[in-house]
Amino acid sequence: MKNIYAIGVGLIGGSLAIDIKKNNPDVVIHGISRKDATLETALSLSLIDKKATLDDLGNADLVIVSIPVDATVKLLPTILDKISDKGLVVDAGSTKVDICKVVENHSKRRNFLAMHPIAGTEHSGPTAAIKGLFVGKTNIVCEVEKTTFKLQEKALKLFSDIGMRIRYMNPADHDKHIAYVSHLSHISAFMLGKTVIEKGKNERDIFDMAGSGFASTVRLAKSSPEMWAPIFKQNRTNVIETLEEYISNLTKFKELMKDENFEAIFDEMKSTNHIKDILNGIN
Ligand code: NAP
Repeated sequence: MKNIYAIGVGLIGGSLAIDIKKNNPDVVIHGISRKDATLETALSLSLIDKKATLDDLGNADLVIVSIPVDATVKLLPTILDKISDKGLVVDAGSTKVDICKVVENHSKRRNFLAMHPIAGTEHSGPTAAIKGLFVGKTNIVCEVEKTTFKLQEKALKLFSDIGMRIRYMNPADHDKHIAYVSHLSHISAFMLGKTVIEKGKNERDIFDMAGSGFASTVRLAKSSPEMWAPIFKQNRTNVIETLEEYISNLTKFKELMKDENFEAIFDEMKSTNHIKDILNGIN
């Protein structure tokens, strides 16, 4: 592998570029983005070696697409049109159904591998890129059977070399499950942040009391709306389902408070403490 094109050089594209370059110092990482300023920043941070455009993609051994999921759906068919027969295209989008659907009948479908690296932070853009982001993290790969075997092997090696474990899933299951463990957490952080900001407008000293519990719970509310709004749009049905379940739990909690049923509240919290064991198994 010689020429890698990173379309999107933000947190995910930039972090992938850092780790792939570290393992493969001879590859040339070409960056493609909407804004020249973004590419200049990526160059100055040595995330990429060169600036490029979509017209250069015929030269690509690998194209990594790490842009918002609505932009990926729009651009992916064009990217596949432009690559050579030997080129491999992977995307890092946080939703998978619409992305897989848009290329299902593309003549170069076998050159595409759909994936979702489950790794990230609340920061965005090239300055958010960090080394080692993917070590020990899971990379969900969808519809692997639709990618040429040789290209699958190439991609899977590249991603295991940067420390990722691979899990296979179909796009519908991916989007359903990720709505619970990622999309709902972001919505609850955004709405928790909103609730406290609104209260803080009238009671200014409220933030003097904010401790690390508040900071860690609300952390995801710093995430980029440019990235998240398209995710919620594409995964609307699953996200609504998770919200209904979450709101029902919140309402139940409120009712228990109104009823002064603190025994039931204690039991609810006690049974949810089990999350410790579940998370210990993951981390
Ligand atoms: P990011 O840091 O905001 O970077 C996104 C990049 O895409 C920027 O370089 C931006 O460049 C470009 N971009 C923004 N809007 C675009 C558009 N409409 N058309 C073309 N390019 C556009 O985002 P990220 O966190 O790396 O996320 C990238 C992808 O990875 C998304 O699909 C996301 O769902 C997925 N993902 C994110 C995480 C996470 O935790 N952040 C985790 C796993 C997967 P310009 O400045 O030039 O516009």
